Amino acid sequence: MKNTAPFCSLVCLVAAPLWAGAQNLDAVVNGEISGLVDTYKGIHEHPELSHHEEHTAALLAGELRKSGFTVIERVGKYPDGTQAYGIVAVMQNGPGPKLLIRADMDALPIVEETGVAYASRVKAKNAAGQEVGVMHACGHDVHVTTMIGTARALAATKGKWHGTAMLIGQPSEETIDGAKALLADHLYDRFGTPDIAIALHDTNTRAAGTVSITSGPALTSSTSIDVTLRGIGGHGAQPQLAKDPIVMAGEFIVQLQTVVSRQENPRDPAIVTIGDIHGGTKRNIIPNEVKMELTARAYSDEARRIIVEGIRRTAQGVALSAGVPEDLAPIVTVLDAESTPVMYNDPALTARVRAALVKALGAQNVIDEEAGTASEDFGILGLEGRKIPTVMFGLGAMDPAKFAAARAAGKLLPGPHNSRFEPLPEPTLRTGVKAMSSVAIALLQK
Ligand SMILES: [Zn+2]
Ligand SMILES: [Zn+2]
Repeated sequence: MKNTAPFCSLVCLVAAPLWAGAQNLDAVVNGEISGLVDTYKGIHEHPELSHHEEHTAALLAGELRKSGFTVIERVGKYPDGTQAYGIVAVMQNGPGPKLLIRADMDALPIVEETGVAYASRVKAKNAAGQEVGVMHACGHDVHVTTMIGTARALAATKGKWHGTAMLIGQPSEETIDGAKALLADHLYDRFGTPDIAIALHDTNTRAAGTVSITSGPALTSSTSIDVTLRGIGGHGAQPQLAKDPIVMAGEFIVQLQTVVSRQENPRDPAIVTIGDIHGGTKRNIIPNEVKMELTARAYSDEARRIIVEGIRRTAQGVALSAGVPEDLAPIVTVLDAESTPVMYNDPALTARVRAALVKALGAQNVIDEEAGTASEDFGILGLEGRKIPTVMFGLGAMDPAKFAAARAAGKLLPGPHNSRFEPLPEPTLRTGVKAMSSVAIALLQK
């Protein structure tokens, strides 16, 4: 994907470091905020799809380098051998813990409809070769800009922390193969294994100026599953000679609802969604097969296991009752490459992060949040068995006045993955930089 405007024009807008030598976080943030807002608007206007974060990564790498970090670019390897646009930026500041901070960089195939002056008009080809609009509809531009601000804050407050800050610009979160690509490229062998890992995600469920945090399971695992129900095609007028996979699909969809409602523990919730179904070519032809794409979400490995086995069993049962021969049994494929584990916020680390947030922002601005049902690949950086404690906290991104008005009407403003998702730049970035820097300083102690 090509960008029409060079990113260097944005880099040039960054203000001179007014805070040079400052050790006070508020002074650093005050000195940086207007430049960061300009940087954010530039990134927002030039979004790049997953696997194509070339200019965003280059901008982030350049900014982190200017802050004194040692930066390595093009980190990450996809299963097809392609090199990713991940970046790793390291600043060593004496003995102490090694802290990983992650910001994801990719945008979504959505035509922006916010109407803001800095709205994206970018078009690009998706993986299927179709032209799509591109928008930072998940606010990863907020994450990248917050990381730039955090890097400057850490560089300016080196007297307040000890250890190693390892900043990761992660590609391809939306396609959930970015964190895996970093590990496949030996991230920790090359740059050392962190002791702890943190990240933030902006949200429409909270107003700008606030942050939110959940202890324990915070976001569900997401498992992608393909189901193909195979039958025997034939003339629509002679169903007795066929095995109709469309009827089987109907039964499968209805029966599947009982996996969650009757086989799964109601105290350990799960979700199954069939988002895509294809079968048939013409009204009077019984097709040979119906293909479905499913996602299953769960907070525990046990719920995930029950759901996946339930999907498999339901498909087999439906085929059996339709009299489908064994050699045409349903094909149920779990796509590991498109699946993510639970986003688990380590309770002990969550308590430390929460305390740092309260100290920085005030207790009234730190909200204890219920677990959400979206998914994230950040947890993958915590490794199998949750070897590295991880925490992701929420960053309120909505205009406080609009947020309050919507809330009074019992509504929420448009959120991530919506063409009208509109973070309010100034207070969101100010809070993001202050929150992430304060947490980093609190965790980077001997
Ligand atoms: Zn997203
Ligand atoms: Zn996101």
